[in-house]
Amino acid sequence: MIRKLIKNLSQAFSKQSSTASAKHLPDIITRGEHGISRSEISEHALKVLYRLHKNGYQGYLVGGAVRELLLGKNPKDFDISTDAKPEQVKRLFRNCRIIGRRFRLAHVFFGDEIIEVATFRAASEMVHSEHGMVMADNVFGTLEEDAFRRDFTVNALYYNIADFSVVDFMGGMQDIKDGILRMIGEPDVRFREDPVRILRAVRFCAKLNFKLADNLLAPMQELKVLLHNVSSARLYQELAKLFFTGHAFDTYELLKKQEMLGFLFPITENSLTQQVYPTDKLIIQVLKDTDERLSQNKTATPAFLFAAMLWHAVCERAKLLVQRGKRPHAALFDAQDEILSEQTKVISIPKMTQQTIKEIWSLQWRLEKAYQRNAFKLFSQLRFRAGLDFLIARNKIGEYTLLADFWQQFALLSEHDRIKHVKLLPKLLNKKQDSIYLKNLGLLNKKT
Ligand code: ATP
Ligand code: MG
Repeated sequence: MIRKLIKNLSQAFSKQSSTASAKHLPDIITRGEHGISRSEISEHALKVLYRLHKNGYQGYLVGGAVRELLLGKNPKDFDISTDAKPEQVKRLFRNCRIIGRRFRLAHVFFGDEIIEVATFRAASEMVHSEHGMVMADNVFGTLEEDAFRRDFTVNALYYNIADFSVVDFMGGMQDIKDGILRMIGEPDVRFREDPVRILRAVRFCAKLNFKLADNLLAPMQELKVLLHNVSSARLYQELAKLFFTGHAFDTYELLKKQEMLGFLFPITENSLTQQVYPTDKLIIQVLKDTDERLSQNKTATPAFLFAAMLWHAVCERAKLLVQRGKRPHAALFDAQDEILSEQTKVISIPKMTQQTIKEIWSLQWRLEKAYQRNAFKLFSQLRFRAGLDFLIARNKIGEYTLLADFWQQFALLSEHDRIKHVKLLPKLLNKKQDSIYLKNLGLLNKKT
């Protein structure tokens, strides 16, 4: 009873300040009262936790892993929180490296798996920018402080290796049961501290199929403009989490609904508004394919997503350049460079990925205008498969591409049968039907 009273009081206090320093008594959910079993935890994470514990340190599994396990899902990574300082962690593990300048973390390596071990962090000495964004928070803290600086209640649950209980300072357990995404502290303050939390809120709703707590939507809408202040490098990292963790389609739909897509893809938003090309259909096609591939443990490249998001804009720009007198080939390459350089101002796309995007785009033209002699050369191109998949996606959404079927079959045939198949090309190209893209570039098949 007394414990409950203190807890209520401290919860009331936490509503006033997200960096409260008063002592809170957490709920302890004992081993028998929750569904997390050690057999579902990575053996490497358990190894790290046990060793911390044996050496007198606290060891907790935290964040996404605890949340996913409580929801009966398979976590993709296992993060650990401890009171041991990074150097102390390093002393316990030979296979350990300390990373990070802003906040030092220990990475313990087990083959392909990396277990991230973070020392409890306090949020009390944050340095704020003029927009309220956190610029540095490099202070170690207690378990309780560590819980306070996390974003959502469902992300602040700690699985204690000492007694296999779950420690809950924020009521996250109840929110998991209710399917509610609730901010720790004042949403307005926490979104200003780090506007990426607005995207994280969208991501978790899409991924977990959770509802936003009542007090989240208004500040998210009011403060989403602050996403303009987030660095392009950080947005690229976030993009991977938004679109490459198996819930790309739902996330995209939610971003559109909340009118946030333009903060990541302003050029795409423009294409969607114009409605002259089925950009939305193409993106959805690609995102569904991405989700499908990831569910089958296949890889998926961000290049493909960018290629779809910016496809219409590149076609339009190339058309404009042709109208201004540029030759199609040069117009296409210039258009690719211009559009990519505009997009990278918002999301920094690594050079390698940019190269792949350009190859996918260039292959559209080359695959559509293939002739017998260069068919085999095209087929041996490094990006042939990605280029063909993009051609197929365009064809599926109704942008007629003459050779999509031809290439799909070509790829499936034996070497011997390909020689026969390639002889169909002149006849096919005689059909004089061209995709919008080729028409835009003035590269009609009948002229060749
Ligand atoms: P996922 O399973 O998708 O990786 P996650 O919750 O593990 O989800 P991460 O981005 O891996 O998400 O972050 C790990 C944990 O770190 C979160 O659960 C949260 O507690 C904390 N965290 C991450 N980013 C922020 C942030 N911007 N603000 C506050 N806490 C954060
Ligand atoms: Mg994670």
